[in-house]
Amino acid sequence: MQKVLIANRGEIACRIIRSCRTLGLNTLAVYSEVDQRAKHVTEADDSRAIGPAPAKESYLVFEKVLEAAKDAGADAVHPGYGFLAENADFARAVLDAGLTWVGPRPETITDMGDKERARMLAQSAGVPIVPGSPRFDADDNEGLEASGTEIGFPLLVKATAGGGGIGMKRVDTLKNLRETVEATENMAEKAFGDGTVYLEKLIERPRHIEIQIFGFGDGRAVHYFERECSIQRRFQKIIEESPAPDLLKETRDSMARAALALAKAECYQGAGTIEFIVAPDGNFYFLEMNTRIQVEHPVTEFITGEDLVALQLRLARGDDLSAIRQTDITATGHAIECRIYAENPDKNFLPSPGPLEVFKPPANSETVRVDTGLRQGDQVTYFYDPMIAKLVTRGANRIEAIENMLAALDDFRIEGIVTNIPFLKRVMTHPAYHKGATHTGFVEEHKAELMEG
Ligand code: ADP
Repeated sequence: MQKVLIANRGEIACRIIRSCRTLGLNTLAVYSEVDQRAKHVTEADDSRAIGPAPAKESYLVFEKVLEAAKDAGADAVHPGYGFLAENADFARAVLDAGLTWVGPRPETITDMGDKERARMLAQSAGVPIVPGSPRFDADDNEGLEASGTEIGFPLLVKATAGGGGIGMKRVDTLKNLRETVEATENMAEKAFGDGTVYLEKLIERPRHIEIQIFGFGDGRAVHYFERECSIQRRFQKIIEESPAPDLLKETRDSMARAALALAKAECYQGAGTIEFIVAPDGNFYFLEMNTRIQVEHPVTEFITGEDLVALQLRLARGDDLSAIRQTDITATGHAIECRIYAENPDKNFLPSPGPLEVFKPPANSETVRVDTGLRQGDQVTYFYDPMIAKLVTRGANRIEAIENMLAALDDFRIEGIVTNIPFLKRVMTHPAYHKGATHTGFVEEHKAELMEG
């Protein structure tokens, strides 16, 4: 493996280029028309155009990406997150083209990409799952009502193909079950081309805590502790941290054990994340498995000192990783990540693209890490995700990490567009956040204090 095509853009493309460089690997960037002069393109050793701005006509087109690899002599593909990262057909196409796929086996991506199938696999590996139903036959009205009653309300109707917070609807009474199932089926059919749904008990005031795992493909796997990702809006994460505040050691240990059991049962290959929701009583349940590097991986890197992307590349390259042992993996201090978005929290988090007239992130240091794919003068466009940077800080403890985050947010100068920085500062100074009293409804619960005015 010598030249890695990065089938992505923005901060994650730049992030992958960094690890390739440390391993002596050449990099090939791909770009759409609006990204011709983007940071990831200038940082890569080589680059190829793959079409118009809409991702559907460029970053998501298998043939164009594979053609770029062939043309530029790349022999491996790293998909990053999003775009084609969890597309099993793409992974297969990469392998069929004789290239190295930096990711898990296509069959694993297929298994875990179907949320209901993933639940069954988790259950058979002994991992607790949220009480729920199997996938539903759309016409089985009686069965639907019986399942709803058995699970109890409130519950969630979930699309098996769902992702990114899309394809999930809450139902509070039996009366509304049928119509919500139909609405979710229609929505999922439109968004994912697959309208299959199932039911899941809605856990009230849960925390979202996930375990970072790494599997060697032969049944061995290690974990890199947990990340707490409870500060969300519209089921999407905004702030993540590690360790999870106030989590009992025995809960943390059993979650890690459960995550490893699933990773080992799957003979998982590469970096992956097992997501759980944790109920206020401390019980935890499997939510889903993400078969890729996550947006929030830097908090784990900050406390463990591991370069997870380099690890993905080394496994794909065939390096001998047998020396990696769980007992050698340790964590020190506390790390927090804030996702900086071009969006207006005071207008229901509406995206706010535009020119970055001033863009001066704080400097990277022992305690501050900035991952971004943008520079001053660049445009934030409507075409892609409005995340403009990930700001990560660490400290000897949580309070220090929060203080460092506040200082770094103060230092971050952005002009030309509206960002969520003032909102992030309000979270960082909120007494409930300081207490670690987080749950997925945190933003909604404290809306009055977190929104301007
Ligand atoms: P997606 O793949 O769309 O991200 P997930 O299944 O990972 O969907 O869930 C995303 C978020 O939705 C979780 O972090 C949590 O906030 C909420 N959620 C999902 N399932 C449940 C549930 N059964 N009870 C309560 N909240 C849930």
